[in-house]
Amino acid sequence: MQSDILDPSWSGIAHVSDATKAFLAQPHKLLINGEHTEGVKGNTLNSYDPATGEKLATVCTGTEEDIDNAVKAARAAFNGPWSALSHFDRAKLLKKLAVAIAEHAEVFTELEVLDNGMPRFIAALTVENISEMFDYYAGCAQHIEGTTTQPPRHVAMEAEALTYTLKEPVGVAGLIVPWNVPISTAVLKLAPALAAGCTVVVKPSEETPLSILLLGQLLKETGFPDGVVNIVNGYGHDAGARLSAHPDVDKVSFTGSTATGRKVISAAMGNLKKVSLELGGKSPVVVMPDADVELVVPGIALATFFLQGQNCMAGTRIFIHESLHDEVVEKLIAFTSSLKIGHGLQPETFLGPLISAGHKEKVLGYISKGQEEAAKLVYGGRPLAGNGHFVEPAIFTGCHRDMAIVREEIFGPVMAIQSFSTTNLDEIAAMANDTEYGLSGSVWTESLSTAHALVARIRAGQVSVNCHGAIGTNIPFGGYGQSGWGREFGREGLDAYLETKAVTARLSARQ
Ligand code: NDP
Repeated sequence: MQSDILDPSWSGIAHVSDATKAFLAQPHKLLINGEHTEGVKGNTLNSYDPATGEKLATVCTGTEEDIDNAVKAARAAFNGPWSALSHFDRAKLLKKLAVAIAEHAEVFTELEVLDNGMPRFIAALTVENISEMFDYYAGCAQHIEGTTTQPPRHVAMEAEALTYTLKEPVGVAGLIVPWNVPISTAVLKLAPALAAGCTVVVKPSEETPLSILLLGQLLKETGFPDGVVNIVNGYGHDAGARLSAHPDVDKVSFTGSTATGRKVISAAMGNLKKVSLELGGKSPVVVMPDADVELVVPGIALATFFLQGQNCMAGTRIFIHESLHDEVVEKLIAFTSSLKIGHGLQPETFLGPLISAGHKEKVLGYISKGQEEAAKLVYGGRPLAGNGHFVEPAIFTGCHRDMAIVREEIFGPVMAIQSFSTTNLDEIAAMANDTEYGLSGSVWTESLSTAHALVARIRAGQVSVNCHGAIGTNIPFGGYGQSGWGREFGREGLDAYLETKAVTARLSARQ
């Protein structure tokens, strides 16, 4: 059984709406201080459909000078019109933006599919989610509240006094965004940053520059003051590095690889800016002997192959109890072979292409390495025909802890299965925790006790039971270990853009 691509010559651009065609045909400039600009050096890059290789658009790219201009604009907006707005007025703008996104959902969805390759159903979900995210953080903006507490003893002994805390925006935030879920990873930084009262400079990935530009257009139309959101497409080593190092940026929030995360930390050291990092993962999926196989099979296939595995939460280290191993593997192969591979805009598609030719080579390199290291490739792993960067999902069995496919983040559709015989939860947790990462994980069992006992032992920021990668707007998400610093989503996502100021006021001398 092998996978086949639906139709390698199917053109995505030919099938999008007129509104998306019109967006693609317009100029794609940087957004700095409310102006669409070509950038100081006038550089550009071309964006391509990873499913077909067709050119989508030429996009202006910024360099260090443009980052400097964008930071200046963000600082002026922070010191001026944005901070002058009340929390309630900020919330109104965020709500208006949520509505505008919903009204442009089809164009956002088609741009995400064309630029990134993801299937339409995933793109549609992410677009629904970004609208929801602005709405959610609009609500949070109205509830930015400090606390009151007892004044310090030495003051209280001498005078009546009052102590309270204020929550204030961190300032100018640099948001560095990856290509794997482009608009979603941008908005899960942007929405809380704006709700908190920060102004921002966004640096999207060079691979996926388009959907954020549509958002920039809507920000202007919905009445956000100039300079509050600045968008500088450009390269990481240039625009990204400058944003991380910029002395007038107060915070940088980065999503991407652990290697680049380290560079961001070093660059941020100059002015000791605050840093949030959402990095890589190699998440464990543990199938206990009492698991429901009918649930497990699609569940673990999706844990690994969702978004072609280009997903930081992907469950790629699969541990199956020996009593279920053969049955699960056999059914997993049948299930995986039923997943349709094609252009993301074809309605039957479940798996799209990888992001680029370079990334495809990297993923195929890992598949070869797995075979060299004597893991057993029981399904898939071939490149598929056509100009797109398609690789069929690969399932390896007989894996062990020292193999590269078990240790390293591949960011592709490669599943590494290990069989285990123990039922000792400490031993099972030790296997699951045998990684430098700690982003996500899942436990599959019918026993409530086993589930919660294992969840408590797994070192990861998000652990799901009988499902995997259960993210949501209101649910904090982030990593233990080398998977990152801080949390996004939910209230904690807002806190990442707030400072706490403690105030003690001496009122009058004690009588
Ligand atoms: P990177 O970490 O290189 O890129 C993420 C973002 O950082 C992009 O906007 C990139 O810009 C930017 N960037 C690159 N270099 C610097 C720098 N020196 N300073 C500041 N910003 C920089 O990831 P890639 O896109 O290259 O993907 C490589 C690997 O990273 C993947 O194979 C995967 O393993 C992992 N990854 C993990 C993600 C996650 O969600 N955890 C998301 C994406 C990737 P540009 O693209 O323009 O170079």
